[in-house]
Amino acid sequence: MRATMMYGAGDVRVEQVPDSVVKLPTDALVRVTASCVCGSDLWPYSSMKPEDGPARMGHEFIGIVEDTGPEVTTLKRGDLVVAPFAISDNTCQFCREGLHTSCAHPQANFWDGEPDEGGQAEAVRVPLADGTLVKLPVEADSALMPSLLTLSDVFGTGHHAAVAGGVNPRTRVTVIGDGAVGLLAVLSAKRLGAEQIILMGRHQARIDLGREFGATDIVSARGEEGIAQVRELTGGHGTHVVLEAVGTMPAYRQALGVVRPGGVISRVGVPQYEDAPIGMGSLFRPNLRLAGGPAPVRAYIEELMPDILNGSIEPGKVFDATTDLDGVPAGYQDMADRKSLKVLIKP
Ligand SMILES: [Zn+2]
Repeated sequence: MRATMMYGAGDVRVEQVPDSVVKLPTDALVRVTASCVCGSDLWPYSSMKPEDGPARMGHEFIGIVEDTGPEVTTLKRGDLVVAPFAISDNTCQFCREGLHTSCAHPQANFWDGEPDEGGQAEAVRVPLADGTLVKLPVEADSALMPSLLTLSDVFGTGHHAAVAGGVNPRTRVTVIGDGAVGLLAVLSAKRLGAEQIILMGRHQARIDLGREFGATDIVSARGEEGIAQVRELTGGHGTHVVLEAVGTMPAYRQALGVVRPGGVISRVGVPQYEDAPIGMGSLFRPNLRLAGGPAPVRAYIEELMPDILNGSIEPGKVFDATTDLDGVPAGYQDMADRKSLKVLIKP
């Protein structure tokens, strides 16, 4: 079968690899029908050293169950399923608390930690299939497919940012970042009823989609000027919640600048730093809280899916390009160049 491999920064190849097969009794083999490139795939694409590769790529996919191990009880051949970006048993104490990204099962993992499997491929061996996969009540050629695919990561991640930040109808929210996660953080904040949603971004097509998703205000300036504009829009105080969907130190500093005293900075942009200000001059004096982490998207699928099925939201609008496997390397480059917002893959 064919799969996407990253050999180092800027070097993505689609290659012939050994066929994925069921190995453990709790595995399922899934034939991938839709997959995509994640904004987080762009971190290694910009920095991966050749000695750390090659790495199998892709952690968001929908597919058809082709085979199951003897202990898989909830799925059968022919089922259409969506896979979250984390493998989990859905039964341990952390999963029961809705924190599937901290699942205690020994086989729990992120797809990026499975060396021989990945979603940007023709097929995937899915460990802990009963816990990990969620059945979709539509056909594989449904027009809802792009939106349903966002349940595997990007929509659940935007939703997690909003939930971890405590967004509700009494909150004003700033979203930092106009990538797919930032835009779906806007949609999620809107869905949770936020009173005001300020999107900090500067790319026209993305800003337009942000407005469609529910942004009430746009601030395109960065740094001190951007901070001043957000404060101007909020009576001088900043917003109760900041959803930080970039992951860099300038984005963190931006968040500190626009959050209201007593507020929350919720991060889902994978932080590319370990050290950040948390003391008297930053978090402590204004009683700020820091929240967020890898989204337990498995916990959110049942809650978010009905709004996609009934057409009330269309998170799949973040996909602005579609390719087959051959076009995946160019898709990475287009996303790195910000020519594409998010690339859908049909293997
Ligand atoms: Zn678990």
